[in-house]
Amino acid sequence: MDLIVAKFGGTSVGDGSRIRKAAQSVVNEYMKGKQVVVVVSAVNKTTDELIGLSNDAIGGGLTDRQKAEIMAMGELTSARLFSATVESLGVKSEFIDPYNELWPIITDSNALEAKIDFSTTDEKIKGIENLLNQGIIPVVCGFLGKGPSGEITTLGRGGSDVSAFLIGHCLNASEVVIVTDVDGVMSTDPNKIEEAELLDEISVEEMWDLATHGAQVLHPHALKYKDPLISAKIINFAHGDLSTKGTRITGPFEGDMMKSVVLYKNPISLIALVGDGMLKKVGLLAKITTCLASDNINVFGISAGQNSMTVFVEKADSQKAYHLLHSLVIEDDVFSSLSLANDTSMITVVSPDFTDETPGIISKITEPLRKNHINIVEISSSQTAIVVFVDLEDGKKAYELLEEVLE
Ligand code: ADP
Ligand code: ASP
Ligand code: MG
Repeated sequence: MDLIVAKFGGTSVGDGSRIRKAAQSVVNEYMKGKQVVVVVSAVNKTTDELIGLSNDAIGGGLTDRQKAEIMAMGELTSARLFSATVESLGVKSEFIDPYNELWPIITDSNALEAKIDFSTTDEKIKGIENLLNQGIIPVVCGFLGKGPSGEITTLGRGGSDVSAFLIGHCLNASEVVIVTDVDGVMSTDPNKIEEAELLDEISVEEMWDLATHGAQVLHPHALKYKDPLISAKIINFAHGDLSTKGTRITGPFEGDMMKSVVLYKNPISLIALVGDGMLKKVGLLAKITTCLASDNINVFGISAGQNSMTVFVEKADSQKAYHLLHSLVIEDDVFSSLSLANDTSMITVVSPDFTDETPGIISKITEPLRKNHINIVEISSSQTAIVVFVDLEDGKKAYELLEEVLE
């Protein structure tokens, strides 16, 4: 039997008629013979309001645990409301909150960014399965977890998406549907650029990078539970129909692929172009890349300083690139001179944990290199990847050290 996990975001249950519409869309699928688990967020901006209230009343004295308990009231309320609405439409439903013995999502004791205890959750999901087998629609509080001493924890802001994908994974659901206030994943945030266009589909990898760079439309950690066999989509609540198309998220989350240290097979050469006050001059990047593209030379990276720009190309291309860029330097007054520097090894370190651990992660990477007297020629970092360039002969050693870090 098809099993759908449907997650309703705050706006989609923003008032009485929306809650009814949402509940009706669930009942419609149920009537088609599908099993449905509902995961629901707090109504509208309730979570923000509860945080605001407690800050006004208590200020800095609020403990994390108190904050989690107070925020939880949003989802405790919406799950009850949603479940009662489903019942009013003639189908049996039960709300499941962390006080319920059937509650499945077990975490560590971190109140505000709790880590999920996957194996216990996977075990406890049987309670939800039993409800489904009795023809009941379970309505589970999104965002919440239950800590080691039975206390309420939260999965971090926007965490209901994580709840939905986690439950979908543990139940071997056929589909996870994220119901929100936009048509799906778009070319950018449609609330910032009106002309944004809807994407029919997006790969897990792209979605991961988009989400870790701030696109709120899906919590990145939800993707960790995206199985190959589960289809997943993001749709607009306005349709009141869970079979609406929206944006499909394709492919599985490949933990290994997303957590890796890769030593690039070929040496990389650095070419530095210098010129007075380059950082403040417009269009230099385009000039450099257009110049190299004219001979089909791929650029592996660029870094910019006050009075210079460094371009990274394959050693095999470096002589060609050097001569082309030299002509550019001669032609264009912005540049005064260039230098073809030593060759380097490029190591790319990718981990889904970087988003959690950003404060300490760079030093975790640089420290073992320093201890082993390996000079870092360049380093660049984003939310998902850190790229380190070291002297060519240090490549293999650096690679081994960084592999140890990731383990
Ligand atoms: P929900 O409460 O349903 O979880 P969120 O506010 O967390 O909804 O996420 C939906 C919001 O994500 C949209 O209203 C939109 O402003 C924002 N968003 C950011 N980037 C994108 C994007 N590329 N495509 C669609 N929505 C985006
Ligand atoms: N209600 C929670 C929040 O606002 C969780 C969620 O909406 O996903 O962060
Ligand atoms: Mg959200």
